[in-house]
Amino acid sequence: MIISIASGKGGTGKTTVATSLALSINEEVQFLDCDAEEPNAHIFLKPRIGETKKVYIPVPVVDTERCAYCGRCREVCAYNAIAVVKGSDGKKGSILVFSNLCHGCGSCAYFCPENAIKEVSREIGEIEIGTVGEMQFIHGRLSIGEAMAPPIIRQIKKYIDKTRTVIIDAPPGTSCPVVETVKKSDFCVLVTEPTPFGLNDLTLAVEVLKKLKIPFGIVINRSDLGDKRTDEYCKKNDIPVLMRIPFRREIAVAYSKGEPIVKIFPEYKKDFGDLFRKIKDEKPR
Ligand code: SF4
Ligand code: SF4
Repeated sequence: MIISIASGKGGTGKTTVATSLALSINEEVQFLDCDAEEPNAHIFLKPRIGETKKVYIPVPVVDTERCAYCGRCREVCAYNAIAVVKGSDGKKGSILVFSNLCHGCGSCAYFCPENAIKEVSREIGEIEIGTVGEMQFIHGRLSIGEAMAPPIIRQIKKYIDKTRTVIIDAPPGTSCPVVETVKKSDFCVLVTEPTPFGLNDLTLAVEVLKKLKIPFGIVINRSDLGDKRTDEYCKKNDIPVLMRIPFRREIAVAYSKGEPIVKIFPEYKKDFGDLFRKIKDEKPR
């Protein structure tokens, strides 16, 4: 079973939930941290890393001798990663590739009528593979200055082992990296907090999951702070609240020290075990 842990916004306790859930399951677990811009699950799980692999994407290089400056590559690039200035009055045009914007989709090379584009590999980050006891652990990290998390996430997800229970820590938000992370999950847990900001971002995340047709439920962190609107929203929309974690100063202290909740408070293992059972019991919605 593939369970992704996501949140509409950062700082809700998503990684806290993901790591403690992974440590509370009495099954073979594989943990993937897909927050390639800011991976931090390793701080809590302290994996022993055994292997590192570079991640590359193919980016275009234009042969200016062959290029007719027709602009077709610019038209097909959905990411505005190519600029073309057509030539005039016998002057040659010019073409510029913004490789930092390039997603490596290959469309420009495919559609170039002059066969003027070849692709070269550009390193954008790396993934690390290791273990936490019996648990398999994989995370990825974008190189500094790089912005293309989805190719790293795809590389991480290639290692999914369906014979295990797979827990995926998703990036925060609702943009491309989140969609790339949660798609094909069997279930998604949305971690939120009962504040107006939390509710606003929760509703956006719910819309994404509905579009992707992924079953989901909610964990409310710091559940005794804030207001009742998150509960009312869940009730009105028939969204299951799977777990509530009340605010405890000791949990915040444990977080600041990079310790999972269940290591500091072993009594929470039962609660996270219950969360896992509820996830398995939930019907697709
Ligand atoms: S499609 Fe090919 S020929 Fe046309 S501008 Fe782009 S690289 Fe040049
Ligand atoms: S490979 Fe795709 S994203 Fe990159 S420049 Fe070509 S069309 Fe644009």
